[in-house]
Amino acid sequence: MADWPVESLGNMTLLQYAKTPYMDLLAKKGKTGMLKTVQDGFHPGSEVANSSILGYDQEKVYEGRGPLEAASIGVELAPDDMAIRCNIICIEGDNIKNHSCGRLETEEGDILIKYLQDKLANDPEIVAKYGNIVHFYTGVQYRHLLVINGGNKYIKCTPPHDVPLHPWRPELVKPDTEAEAKALANGAKPTKLSATETAELINTLIVKSQELLGKHPFNAQRIAEGKDPANSIWPWAGGYRPHMATLQETFPQIKKGAVITAVDLIRGIGHYAGLRCIDVEGATGLYDTNYEGKAAAAIEALKTDDFVYLHVEASDEAGHDGDLELKLQTIENLDKRAIGPIYEEVKNWDESVAIAVLPDHPTPVAHRTHTNEPIPFLIYAPGIEPDGVQTFDEVACKEGSYGTLEKDGFIKAFMAIN
Ligand SMILES: [Zn+2]
Repeated sequence: MADWPVESLGNMTLLQYAKTPYMDLLAKKGKTGMLKTVQDGFHPGSEVANSSILGYDQEKVYEGRGPLEAASIGVELAPDDMAIRCNIICIEGDNIKNHSCGRLETEEGDILIKYLQDKLANDPEIVAKYGNIVHFYTGVQYRHLLVINGGNKYIKCTPPHDVPLHPWRPELVKPDTEAEAKALANGAKPTKLSATETAELINTLIVKSQELLGKHPFNAQRIAEGKDPANSIWPWAGGYRPHMATLQETFPQIKKGAVITAVDLIRGIGHYAGLRCIDVEGATGLYDTNYEGKAAAAIEALKTDDFVYLHVEASDEAGHDGDLELKLQTIENLDKRAIGPIYEEVKNWDESVAIAVLPDHPTPVAHRTHTNEPIPFLIYAPGIEPDGVQTFDEVACKEGSYGTLEKDGFIKAFMAIN
């Protein structure tokens, strides 16, 4: 939700301009502040921002997308596994045509991933050189998973969405020997494969996948239908199983907790944080998401659990689209269709419920991608002493009594509410 002042809105931010009676009410009745959700030196990704909100120090837990997506699809990683996102992309001649081969249904991706598992994981040349260490797992649509047992994470990969229409060969994986040496000097356990060997293996898999997928009947049919062929894998964002203490371990008052989200990365964070993942029908991660269903699931979970992390992606997507009207709508939807119903339901419960509202990071419509600026937050609980801030937005919350927090400052403040 967080954004910059917009000229056409009279230099107000979207949170200032949008009609958000419930967020404003909770800010007025509660306490507010700003939170730095992106630690210095880290990219303002959703995985960084959301795990920071939950209090995790990125220096200690950051492992990138691969391991989080593994958790999201139920793949438990061994301590010596390296998990890496594996896109199925479209190559045209020497170039990456796109990062997702247009539209690929999960069932279609599943056919190709199972085929690659069969052929590549058991490829005699690969098995002879490295052993039986390659595993492909089906994820969602074009986004799948590659696990290399004994793989090294210190490799430089190019996210394929960053290089559409670029030649693919110069973007192949390279070892980050400097980072590898530094990790070893700092006491990291050596991996079975070095960074150089891991990069070589992944590049071999990419080239072999192109030979296999190029000949697959699925792609012949796709080309006949005028669609982009799904003709190469593209692994990126690898890491190990993160060393994350569960929230229960850090905050004993949480005996049971839940996460509600349509986004794989947040599901993965929830898994390692010890939260059960609740699936909500019609939760899409987009503007048409089932707000009412998510709110109802949160209310239901609060009857049995001590903590519920409810995540709604819609505003971020609207920010990426650069769509001001749509983003305003998503903010008003969140207020009216999720926060409102939850507050109205729990406000009179015998066991009081504390509510915090916050974005994970700004995705300004003028910028169309994430920024690392601090975001506003509010914390409300029955009986909390208000701090005088009257509205929930990037300007008003700067005056809040919490000031600007960072690292685990927010979650500790929230958990300190009785
Ligand atoms: Zn985003």
